[in-house]
Amino acid sequence: MSRLPAFRNEPYADFARPENRRAMEAALVRGRDACGREYALRIAGRPVTTGAWVRSVNPSQPAVLVGSLARANAALAAEAVADAAAFFPQWARMSVDDRVGIVFRTAALLRERKNEFNAWLVLEAGKSWVEAEAETAEAIDFCEYYARQMLRWANPEPLLQLPGERNELTYLPLGVGVVIPPWNFPLAILAGMTVAALVCGNTVVLKPSSETPVIAAQFVALLAEAGLPPRALALCAGSGAEIGDLLVTHPLTRFISFTGSRDVGLHINELAARPAPGLRWIRRVVAEMGGKDAIVVDADCDLDAAVAGVVASAFGYQGQKCSACSRAIVHGAVYEKFLGRLGPAVDALTVGDAADPSFAMGPVISAAARRSILGYMDLGRTEGHLLTGGHAAPGDGYFLQPTVFAGVAPAARLFREEIFGPVLAVTPAPDFPHALALANESDYGLTGAVYSYVPAHLDEARRDFHVGNLYLNRKCTGAMVGAHPFGGFNLSGTDSKAGGPDYLLQFLQAKSIATRLP
Ligand code: NAD
Repeated sequence: MSRLPAFRNEPYADFARPENRRAMEAALVRGRDACGREYALRIAGRPVTTGAWVRSVNPSQPAVLVGSLARANAALAAEAVADAAAFFPQWARMSVDDRVGIVFRTAALLRERKNEFNAWLVLEAGKSWVEAEAETAEAIDFCEYYARQMLRWANPEPLLQLPGERNELTYLPLGVGVVIPPWNFPLAILAGMTVAALVCGNTVVLKPSSETPVIAAQFVALLAEAGLPPRALALCAGSGAEIGDLLVTHPLTRFISFTGSRDVGLHINELAARPAPGLRWIRRVVAEMGGKDAIVVDADCDLDAAVAGVVASAFGYQGQKCSACSRAIVHGAVYEKFLGRLGPAVDALTVGDAADPSFAMGPVISAAARRSILGYMDLGRTEGHLLTGGHAAPGDGYFLQPTVFAGVAPAARLFREEIFGPVLAVTPAPDFPHALALANESDYGLTGAVYSYVPAHLDEARRDFHVGNLYLNRKCTGAMVGAHPFGGFNLSGTDSKAGGPDYLLQFLQAKSIATRLP
């Protein structure tokens, strides 16, 4: 492979520029025209339909069907794993340069069609233009970054050479991986998890989220266009109950790469660990799960920056990020002042169709999500003081007002449970050490941030804030590939550090070879 430029993050298009706006508007028109199509599964390298469908609607306009992906049954799921296992030796033996080349071509195609994918993210996932652009750029970053990382593992650090021996370590793929992504980053997380497993030489059975099957089908088609052999990747959609457990427990499944909620992650981890007849390995589970992320606001800090950081982290993509700020823990000395500035900043956020870039916030993903979040809004009225919001927002879509409850006690469910929507709990703390202790009062440990001018407090946070991704004097969302390896502590997951230099090791096993020299 010729000399590669160093990895850099994909730049974002500026939608203030008229030509970028026009291009995005045109992509949305094409996307709307393409809504309602049916997509086939990919099993054993062939397209398959079953007569049953996973249907996805536009959460801004639920009457609009975005598309339908065929729904697999148990027999097809079993066939997908068996065929992926049969094809594994061929794919694993393909040269690293060839595998890496496919991933670089995938990045190039994504770059070429950035606005098409942005449009699907707006229409199927309810992302704003800016959030969609950031996500497509992140998907490109994952491809560019993991391809480079694979080249690194293909040329590992030399070992100590014993006299009379040649000592080598080579990194081999594991086998069949079942990849299970969530709906909230239906392109970037799906692409990152899938490409990481594939570039290492594993074959993959991808089970996409039922909320966002069209984006999954589009990305699988893109990989095929980039030259991925059809049998290296199966696309197998369906419910967790119908095919999820089967994929996880299939004796030929070697590893599971999961991103989603805590309860499903723990269920998968438990199932994967069970011994079974014919099972020849301890399945690996990479599980990245939920969060209850806190931003600590110190007495001595840039309060305007803190308010802006909390608002962006709590309400970006309607609070539907694992990294979203759902607790603001504020030093008592600035608590009232903070609330005084937070209320108007949140009130300024407008809510409406994600396709209209004049709205700050779009819909939540589904009617069920909206119901569950409204339930937390009702609960908040008993557990705190409603500062703003608290209701559904007008319109046909799954719209909710950005909502803030103040005075939420640490024992409250609002302080402890992941809501995964635009609801922020604000809690006062008597001093900085108490604020930090409250931030750590959680079963989770994904992201966290501290706003403070006090170097000793920032050092304390570096040492004691028990999260996988800590941000100092900036918001707690928006991890960048290569710069902020991402993964959580405690029940937030296995801390796999997606987008970091160690991520691929989870999909490889090292073989040590010692050759006695003549
Ligand atoms: P979810 O757990 O409901 O679903 C995740 C995936 O698991 C989906 O594809 C779903 O179809 C599948 N699934 C459900 N039951 C299954 C089973 N029994 N067997 C196999 N697969 C099964 O989560 P979600 O609603 O899609 O996503 C939101 C959650 O994801 C939140 O908790 C969020 O914090 C978390 N998340 C975490 C990260 C991270 O990096 N830590 C990133 C994004 C989202």
